[in-house]
Amino acid sequence: MERLVILGGGESGVGTAILGKEKGYEVFLSDKGRIKDKYRDVLTKLEINWEDEKHSEEKILNANVVMKSPGIPDTAALVVKLRKNDIPVISEIEFASWFSETPVIGITGSNGKTTVTNLIQHLLKSGEVNSGMGGNIGNSYAKMVAEDENDWFVLELSSFQLDGIQDFKPHIAILTNITPDHLDRYDYKFENYKESKFRITKNQTAEDYFIYDADDRVITEWLEKNPVKAQKLPFSMEQKLENGAYLEDKNIVIKINNTEFTMSTSDISLQGKHNTKNAMAAATVSQLLRIRKQTIRESMANFQGVEHRLEKVLKINNVMYINDSKATNVNATYYALESMESETVWILGGVDKGNVYDDLLPLVNEKVKAIICLGVDNDKIKRAFGNIVENLVETGSMDEAVKMAYRLADKGDNVLLSPACASFDLFENYEDRGRQFKNAVRNL
Ligand code: ADP
Repeated sequence: MERLVILGGGESGVGTAILGKEKGYEVFLSDKGRIKDKYRDVLTKLEINWEDEKHSEEKILNANVVMKSPGIPDTAALVVKLRKNDIPVISEIEFASWFSETPVIGITGSNGKTTVTNLIQHLLKSGEVNSGMGGNIGNSYAKMVAEDENDWFVLELSSFQLDGIQDFKPHIAILTNITPDHLDRYDYKFENYKESKFRITKNQTAEDYFIYDADDRVITEWLEKNPVKAQKLPFSMEQKLENGAYLEDKNIVIKINNTEFTMSTSDISLQGKHNTKNAMAAATVSQLLRIRKQTIRESMANFQGVEHRLEKVLKINNVMYINDSKATNVNATYYALESMESETVWILGGVDKGNVYDDLLPLVNEKVKAIICLGVDNDKIKRAFGNIVENLVETGSMDEAVKMAYRLADKGDNVLLSPACASFDLFENYEDRGRQFKNAVRNL
């Protein structure tokens, strides 16, 4: 019997355990932290051997294959030791793909993954395609493969998940954009992070499709140097394309091998330039799957958006409070500020992953009347913006930040939480941060 060892007992680890057990592996799962009760219960019920709050090396170094959860870096001592012993260390995405012929739509990029993934799933469901959504959000791919109920999978894929693939190949791959993020995990080299994102297309063949942002110079420059085998279907807001999606007179036009789809951007429920791009990517997939044009239009119009992504919370005294807690990097915040149509009180801060704020300066100049710092260490923010906004204050909790915003905002303004940073200094995660924001706003 082959021995499968799983490092990490979260969604991907437990999904892998379920699938591994079903496929006849001898499974052992080990987590250095504490495993959540809901996952302990699943493991115990399925009689899978597991441990937590330690790694027992003698039970790990005898593996035939190891699945490492995406949160564990390659530099972890145990991972280094496994590799030294020539034991393959792969991701859940790779492992699951060994047992499934179901075609995959894989979505990666620095920003927009969750939005595009949800929008595609919404379009496919409206078109009565039997698809399962998961990956980096919701259900793990491995768990869905074990359940074997779907005709398509729509998977959000992080760079960490792509780092651990060998043969995994999506039939349709989407790369939304590439801007510096997670550089702490890539030796602070943008080059490494970039390569990791492009792994999404590395196993694709001429029968597969690669959808990407043709206005993103990082992407196009890479493609000039590195040919891909898949059929390319770019999208662009700046140029007309022969094959792919583009803008013409405020209409989205999608051309694929002589078929054409058009829809007005004003009929799309998600507003803002970045969302037009997201819509182009999702509509291209729907076209490839031959969903009826009218169905595509209707579902683009009624899509509700995703929590914590430019989510409008409440209007109080004619001030709109917007929760963009998911903006954990500068690029996401750039689009948030760009889409602000009135003066804005901006709440930002948290754990900086190597941020460079230069690109934001013109937008801040134009739209931001006050900055509220919400992080343990705000020095970098103070240095970047201290000279260009009149009001810059530091706060230590969400309640305090929201109350301060309430004081600083005038009728017609926006209050925007778009932190450009990770949340781990003051919050459990970005969802917790977003929820605390919404509660504080409701309590005003
Ligand atoms: P991801 O899953 O890649 O983190 P999300 O869809 O959760 O992406 O969005 C994360 C943040 O990025 C949100 O603040 C959202 O408003 C913003 N965003 C969404 N789509 C894009 C895009 N295409 N380009 C830039 N920012 C985007």
